[in-house]
Amino acid sequence: MTKAILVLNAGSSSLKFAVYPEASLSTGALLRGQVAGIATEPTFSAHDAAGNRVPVGCFAQMDSATGSDDVIRMLLDWLHTHFAGLKIKAAGHRVVHGGLHFSGPALVTDALLEELKALVPLAPIHQPQNLAAIGYVAASAPGLQQVACFDTSFHSTQDPLAKMFALPRDLTDEGVIRYGFHGLSYEYMADVLPEHIGAKAEGRVIVAHLGSGASMCAMKDRRSVATSMGFTALDGLMMGRRCGAIDPGVLLYLMQEKGMGAAEIETLLYRESGLLGVSGISNDMGVLETSTAPHAQQAIDLFCFRAAREVASLATTISGLDALVFTAGIGENSAKARADICAHLKWMGVDLDPDANAQNALHISPQGAIIDVLVIPTDEEAIIARATQALTVSAGA
Ligand code: ADP
Repeated sequence: MTKAILVLNAGSSSLKFAVYPEASLSTGALLRGQVAGIATEPTFSAHDAAGNRVPVGCFAQMDSATGSDDVIRMLLDWLHTHFAGLKIKAAGHRVVHGGLHFSGPALVTDALLEELKALVPLAPIHQPQNLAAIGYVAASAPGLQQVACFDTSFHSTQDPLAKMFALPRDLTDEGVIRYGFHGLSYEYMADVLPEHIGAKAEGRVIVAHLGSGASMCAMKDRRSVATSMGFTALDGLMMGRRCGAIDPGVLLYLMQEKGMGAAEIETLLYRESGLLGVSGISNDMGVLETSTAPHAQQAIDLFCFRAAREVASLATTISGLDALVFTAGIGENSAKARADICAHLKWMGVDLDPDANAQNALHISPQGAIIDVLVIPTDEEAIIARATQALTVSAGA
């Protein structure tokens, strides 16, 4: 029997999962997969460590009535049925917001869940799903140890000034500060950077996590100094559906002149803006890149322009730039977006090797470049598995 750690990353309509052997995490996941399109047209895909597809089993019965709770119950049944040699020992979850109190992962308890529920308004499109997944696992596998790993934790090392808004002090004191997100992805990058750039990894590095959600982190000594997301995951870069940084006066205008309420504004900012809002076509960079519609190109242009401005802004927080790393769906796959962003940064000394960039190579700057530019696939699940193992072993599970 192989003791294993189940890693879950629950989104609004998807559940990504991975299974790691507890005794040898560094060998990588035994299984990885996801259920997408939950509550509409659910699809299941998964593969083993060698990249081979694995049986669909009970997931073939999913339909639009299959809820997230059903999906988690099915996942545990599926693992039990098709991988009888595995014993799930603990489950680790991505939880987007850890608030003021968590600079590292935490074992799930009732008290912890209460504390994390209070943060739902700060991450309305992520936190409810993350917490629901913990509840569904508890219902399907009572007694299984669970660990919450926060996207905010990595940024607890940010400079004090980088955390502050210029708001009255009592708001700052009660926690209206810049937390930052995508911390599990940045922690992974901080871990693997020395393999790729040696001692430069301890220098001035900006990581651009460009996926459906997008943010950047400026690091020094492989610790977060400043990041583009703030109090919520709305701030900073333009994203698939989210607007990114916006003049707060726009919100006053929407309320006072357009009579919009909080729920309507939340929908506008989180779901109807970004690439989707500007293009009027899609939130998907891949779709926009192949579209001939004029607003599709403008959406890409704005995405890249805003990303380049953020690199330059973050470089100030670390007094320069030794390496720029692209990751996540757009960062890892869109040669065009990387080329456009880097073209805006040529004045800073950022240069690309066009062939290496076209191939999504690891090193995409020319040999001998002063600023290394890299493409490194992220692996948030590996970070969650490690944290889950560390906490459950130390808790004597
Ligand atoms: P998340 O995990 O936050 O849902 P991902 O990291 O998977 O998001 O990133 C999704 C984004 O990556 C989408 O905008 C998608 O279009 C983009 N993407 C994925 N592959 C490509 C590609 N080959 N070319 C351009 N964009 C791509």
